[in-house]
Amino acid sequence: MKRRIKTGGAPMRANAERAEEREVEQEFARDPLCFVVQKHQASQLHYDFRLELDGVLKSWAIPKGPSLDPGDKRLAMMVDDHPLGYRNFEGVLPEGYGAGAVMIWDEGTFVALNQTGREESEEAFRAGLERGQFSFILAGEKLKGEFALVRFKRAGEKTWLLVKKRDSFASSEVVAEQDRSVRSGRSMEEIRDSAVD
Ligand code: MN
Repeated sequence: MKRRIKTGGAPMRANAERAEEREVEQEFARDPLCFVVQKHQASQLHYDFRLELDGVLKSWAIPKGPSLDPGDKRLAMMVDDHPLGYRNFEGVLPEGYGAGAVMIWDEGTFVALNQTGREESEEAFRAGLERGQFSFILAGEKLKGEFALVRFKRAGEKTWLLVKKRDSFASSEVVAEQDRSVRSGRSMEEIRDSAVD
C-alpha cells in the first residue's frame, strides 16, 4: 500500500509566502531607505530633515528641530530635494546661500508605517506626499519610533508639521540637547573651526 504523502496546497502556499516575506525583509535589510537630519547653522539655525525617495532626499527645514514629545508639532518647511550622497556631508558650506556649518545630527533607516519592504515604503511615501500625510518609523540613534509629517494646509503647499506619535520611544526629553554629530562626535563649533583656512 502506497503511503500518501501529505502535500496540501495551503501549507505550501503559506511556506512560499513566508519565504517571500523573508526575502523582502532580507532585501530591505541589505538596502534600506535612509534618513538623515543635518543641523545647519545658516543665518537661521535649523535642522534639515531628509528622507530617501526615488533616489533623492526629500527635504524639510525644521527651525526648532525634531522632538520626541508627541505634544510638540514642529514646523517643517519643504525645501528642494537633495542628491542621495548629500546625506554624507558634514562640514562648512561656503559663502552664499546657506553658508555655515552642517552637522550630521542623526541618521539611520526608515520604513513607512505597516510596511516592511523598500518598494512598499516608497509607494506609501509617494502617496503620503500627495495626500499631505505620511506616517513612518525611524531607526536612528537619536530619533526612533513612529513619526508623522502632516501638511499644514492653511499655510500653503510647502508647510508641514513633524509630529512624534505615541509609542515606547516617545519622551519629554529634549532631544535637540544631544548636540553632537552621530557620525564624528563633533560639536558645531568643532566642525566650524576645522574648516578655518
Ligand atoms: Mn539647510
